[in-house]
Amino acid sequence: MSDLSVKRHGLGYCIMRGDEKISGTFASGDCAEMAVDRKRRKEALIDLPCITCGTHFGSEGAHNRMCDDCRANEGEHAGAYTLVRSRPLAVTS
Ligand SMILES: [Zn+2]
Repeated sequence: MSDLSVKRHGLGYCIMRGDEKISGTFASGDCAEMAVDRKRRKEALIDLPCITCGTHFGSEGAHNRMCDDCRANEGEHAGAYTLVRSRPLAVTS
């Protein structure tokens, strides 16, 4: 798996891959840990084609099959769809 770690470096902290320093210096250990999390997520991405437009993008896994552009567009459409769906149902009396 990931061999990333956070190590004290001078007055701050840095990210290490094994014995190699691979980042700048972070002011706090928390900042460095968050950067490690982001790096691990990014490195775990799988190259998959978007189910909508076919463009290859970095997917987080089986649940993530749409590229960022299509997801942003779908958000707009989903909003409109929600509005349509929120109309009151036909009232019969
Ligand atoms: Zn797409």
